[in-house]
Amino acid sequence: MSVEGALFISYVLNMSDEPSDLSPRSNKEAMRRGLLARCPHCGEGKLFDGYLTVVQKCSSCEEPLGLYRAADAPAFITMSIIGLLLIPVLGFGFVAFRADPLTLALVVTAIVGALTLVVLRLVKGAFVGFLWAQREIDRGA
Ligand SMILES: [Zn+2]
Repeated sequence: MSVEGALFISYVLNMSDEPSDLSPRSNKEAMRRGLLARCPHCGEGKLFDGYLTVVQKCSSCEEPLGLYRAADAPAFITMSIIGLLLIPVLGFGFVAFRADPLTLALVVTAIVGALTLVVLRLVKGAFVGFLWAQREIDRGA
């Protein structure tokens, strides 16, 4: 059995044994903690092991964070945010600076690339926090 499968079974068993775990979870607080790359449950332990890998368990409160699979959602949300920012930046940059199109493309590509890497981590943290608050665990479907 995989680590995720064992975590899922222990999580389900713990939920049925501990009704107090079914207390309401705040989306806002969980997403804020996730945005800061902290555990959505306690706000103390780290959410990521490295750049984007979610830890299997919180080092502080043992919450099984590895069960909350964000999949492609953070990438899609990041693309939407960056794409919406890119349209006015390209238009304004082209009109205001009268830059050479190749120069503008290279500068914008570098900025967008760096910005995407920053925003993706923030969005993934917030999204995992949202999944935790909604108890949207990976059920292996
Ligand atoms: Zn924690």
